[in-house]
Amino acid sequence: MDLAEFTTWSKRIADWSADYLRSLRDRPVRPRTAPGDVIAALPVSPPEGAEPMARIFADFERIVPGAMTHWQHPRFFAYFPANAAPASMLAEQLANTMAAQCMLWQTSPAATEMETRMIDWMRQAVGLPEGWRGVIQDSASSATLSAIMTMRERALDWRGIRSGLAGEAAPRIYASAQTHSSVDKACWVAGIGQDNLVKIPTRADHGMDPDALRAAIAADRAAGHRPAGIVICVGGTSIGACDPVAEIVSVAEKEGLYTHIDAAWAGSAMVCKELRKAWSGAELADSIVFNPHKWLGAQFDCSIQFLKNPAEQLRSLTLRPDYLETPGFDEVVNYSEWTVPLGRRFRALKLWFLIRAYGLEGLRERIRNHIAWSREAEAAIAALPGFRIVTDGRFSLFTFRFEPAGEDADAATAALLERINADGRTYLTQTRHQGQYVIRFQVGQFDCTREDVMTAVEVIGELAAAV
Ligand SMILES: *Cc1c(COP(=O)(O)O)cnc(C)c1O
Repeated sequence: MDLAEFTTWSKRIADWSADYLRSLRDRPVRPRTAPGDVIAALPVSPPEGAEPMARIFADFERIVPGAMTHWQHPRFFAYFPANAAPASMLAEQLANTMAAQCMLWQTSPAATEMETRMIDWMRQAVGLPEGWRGVIQDSASSATLSAIMTMRERALDWRGIRSGLAGEAAPRIYASAQTHSSVDKACWVAGIGQDNLVKIPTRADHGMDPDALRAAIAADRAAGHRPAGIVICVGGTSIGACDPVAEIVSVAEKEGLYTHIDAAWAGSAMVCKELRKAWSGAELADSIVFNPHKWLGAQFDCSIQFLKNPAEQLRSLTLRPDYLETPGFDEVVNYSEWTVPLGRRFRALKLWFLIRAYGLEGLRERIRNHIAWSREAEAAIAALPGFRIVTDGRFSLFTFRFEPAGEDADAATAALLERINADGRTYLTQTRHQGQYVIRFQVGQFDCTREDVMTAVEVIGELAAAV
């Protein structure tokens, strides 16, 4: 492709993109595609010769958009959002064009220094004290893995990275049952193992019980295990549960344990001062992960890991082979030394565009609206016949169940969800809470309106009444 053709197609794709975003409300949120449809539309073998861009693009239009779940659809209320504010998409186009490997300062001076500044902007935005630093990772899973590696190595006085874990007392990690599966996986990958991830019971409010935590640590010490760290949940994925951060951190301080807060989703809400009580005490933790790529609007991938004292994580993850040395640049930050992967994208640019294009006040206003509309939707669903709110609003997430008289409520709720998602006007997903099948309703899409939220409620009522 020559640059004249690149110019033509860049412009066409820019136009297509705007049309796509404009048309989202008219598309079904979840596509009406069956498994196998897309692979059947793709040739079995790759072409030997070059094909014209016009043909490639025509096939894209024919095969792809109609078979996508539209995460930027304003009536997407499933999972958690993966918001891509248009300003962040533009930054991403620029980053993609420069296509830099941002592993070292030398390979990406602007990306590295902008990352440092954006981490500090976000630190201020969520109200963490001066002195905290951080790094932008691809995902919360990677940040949590980094934190768990640090817990492991700190507990082993950095012997694990030399000689492995054989012969060592098992490092033990503590978390509530409401924490995300990425914590389990990080324990697998870090060689700690599922059996050494201790799930602490929760209190009636679904936050970790500090007394049960203390008891578990004491029992582990008595059994010859090696308590290493605690993962604290703020805004759990299932129902938005929050652990009592200050109480858990104070247990950790007494026990000498490292703490990592998983606020992957709810961290975005911390830009609103009045919501920060949900993680009060966070400034006493060691590590915090929050995904601006979820609720805030920086398009995937953009996961910030804040670190009170990066030295311990650096000691656990920094490797400096000869070919990555930068002679004469000892004072610069090389962010790949803070994380598991070496290669890294220029992720700070989309934060810079996002924060400037909307202002913190514009971002706060969206989050406040989402929470207010979620409360309205919760009240409206509670008033529908046969419906019950199972967990009430945590930030902008609540769960409900459909319990028509004389029917199995799990089956009725699952059948209703399938009808809602087949209908296409909105999209919701399920979880299990205390053994019961429930539907999650999360308001958070960047450009959704109150009307979109209330339309979803109407669709739910209409489809439930139709059976
Ligand atoms: C989404 C989520 C994760 C995983 O995030 P990734 O960035 O996809 O790895 C972890 N924890 C919580 C609480 C989440 O909501």
